[in-house]
Amino acid sequence: MLKINNLSVFYGGIHALKGVSLNVEQGQIVSIIGSNGAGKSTLINSISGIVKYKEGEIFYKGEKLSKQAHKIVKSGICQVPEGRIIFANLTVMENLRMGSFLRSDTNGIDKDLNRIFDLFPILKEREKQVAGTLSGGEQQMLAMGRGLMSNPDLILLDEPSLGLAPLLINTIFDIIIEINNMGKTILLVEQNAFKALSIADYAYVLEQGIITMEGNANELIKNEKIKEAYLGKK
Ligand code: ATP
Repeated sequence: MLKINNLSVFYGGIHALKGVSLNVEQGQIVSIIGSNGAGKSTLINSISGIVKYKEGEIFYKGEKLSKQAHKIVKSGICQVPEGRIIFANLTVMENLRMGSFLRSDTNGIDKDLNRIFDLFPILKEREKQVAGTLSGGEQQMLAMGRGLMSNPDLILLDEPSLGLAPLLINTIFDIIIEINNMGKTILLVEQNAFKALSIADYAYVLEQGIITMEGNANELIKNEKIKEAYLGKK
């Protein structure tokens, strides 16, 4: 569904991604794990059109992906950004509606809104609340809900566990599985390697802009090098 060939990204003199190649098959959850500064956000932002790349190619559903953010959203890809960026002064409902701004299928929009409220009942309870006053976990749910309002086929999730309490992290990851069960393909970027590998089909390890390891997530989670570097093995 998504194929990245030899992607390189420079920020001035900093070579943030050095020839990254990866594949995401339809229906999968694919995780990219890596420590701070490895290039995870840069990778996600390159797919969603936020970061411009000069070298490499991205194919989506067999065709070369546009580099323009609105065309990328239209083609069925949405990003839930790191730091759960939401519109703080708008209500929960207004934020969710913003997610569907490129759509005109009113029936589909209403249907998706109801599905999101089923997935995140707290958002229904808080629909009139100003988003900036939500808790961190609720804001993460709102950012995910807003992403789903574009009715994407592929969801790019950047560090959904960031800054959340352990119990809430479990809830968020359970919801990611539910979203995947709804038929959405998921590319997940995470520092929480254990959670990311626990729910993924396939995973890549990104270190200083290079993919250093890849494999089935249930095998990587048992790998000694990964245990040592990312899973806090004593
Ligand atoms: P984290 O988990 O800390 O968010 P990351 O794996 O997502 O890290 P990136 O944010 O992609 O890493 O950053 C990769 C490298 O590129 C880092 O060295 C970072 O300092 C650098 N970088 C990122 N954005 C910019 C920018 N706009 N200008 C210059 N350098 C940047």
